[in-house]
Amino acid sequence: MTFRAVLLTQEDRTVSSEIAELDDSQLPEGNVTVDVSYSTLNYKDGMILTGVGRLVRDYPHVPGIDFSGIVSASADPRYAEGDRVVLTGWRVGEVHWGGYAERARVNGDWLVKLPDGLSELDAMSIGTAGLTSMLAMQAIEDQGVGSAPILVTGAAGGVGSVAVHLLAQAGYEVAASTGRPEASDYLTSIGASEIVDRSELAEPPSGPLSSERWGGCIDAVGDTTLAHVLTEMQYGSSVAACGLAGGNSLDTTVIPFLLRGVNLLGIDSVMCPFETRQQAWLRLDQLLDRGILTDMTTVVGLENVASLGPEILAGKVQGRTVIDVRN
Ligand code: NDP
Repeated sequence: MTFRAVLLTQEDRTVSSEIAELDDSQLPEGNVTVDVSYSTLNYKDGMILTGVGRLVRDYPHVPGIDFSGIVSASADPRYAEGDRVVLTGWRVGEVHWGGYAERARVNGDWLVKLPDGLSELDAMSIGTAGLTSMLAMQAIEDQGVGSAPILVTGAAGGVGSVAVHLLAQAGYEVAASTGRPEASDYLTSIGASEIVDRSELAEPPSGPLSSERWGGCIDAVGDTTLAHVLTEMQYGSSVAACGLAGGNSLDTTVIPFLLRGVNLLGIDSVMCPFETRQQAWLRLDQLLDRGILTDMTTVVGLENVASLGPEILAGKVQGRTVIDVRN
């Protein structure tokens, strides 16, 4: 059987992509074959599509770090033909062919069955970014959040948007930090009660501690923003470090940890264990408002993928972008 896929090739360290017609014999090893319905665009996909960070070592390559779809063949007793499944992480789309294709073959251990209430489109409107937001929210809740608002940085992006909405749905007051003043109405509509200009937090901190402004933080930006936020956390509260859209450095002091008992929690959605993943999907199903999820999502076809890579790296993509691989 033939299927369409975004195929990346590399020549002289320059990565280029085309939509190619492949057949099943070219699919990688795996015990479950999935007819892919949707995939998404994430920051890491932007890096892979443009060759930034050299995350892909073997070409030709099919990118797409997550997908939802329907099992079409399975040698894994846990999955049968017709099961609706979602896959995020496990370095699929990076070291294994991913979701920017009408068909994928993977290891059954990497899949999660979709909860009944989530459509395949819902699942990818959430995608890796949404799963990461949920893992981050759970992590800061496990440590106990303070009474001040919860800050989300990189709020207009994928991880940030779902985090703002999830926190608001869970009943928290949410402050959204963005570099896009024009995104204020959007952020308010998905649950933010306060908008913080990105530049306020992007400056390196002026001292080891500042006034206690935040009861928790989900940070997608890193670098000076993260260093700055650490000095403004309430006593005993937590920062979930999810991303590095602003850079991967961290120049801080031990003072917020020693004098305010601040917790810095690392979030990794790629290798997180199956049970944690499954629980996170069930809670996403319970908490998310489907109307708002639709409002924060743009659906595009496979042919748009190549142009979107540079856009997401430039911080120009708002909310979630879903790829309808059948169009
Ligand atoms: P997006 O590009 O959708 O969002 C990133 C947001 O960060 C932008 O929308 C922008 O928000 C802000 N931003 C961009 N550039 C800068 C900059 N130079 N300085 C400060 N802020 C900036 O990406 P995703 O939401 O998909 O991913 C966000 C981060 O999370 C990435 O680093 C990604 O690799 C990481 N990630 C980590 C995961 C994990 O498991 N830990 C899983 C998924 C993603 P605004 O316009 O509102 O300022």
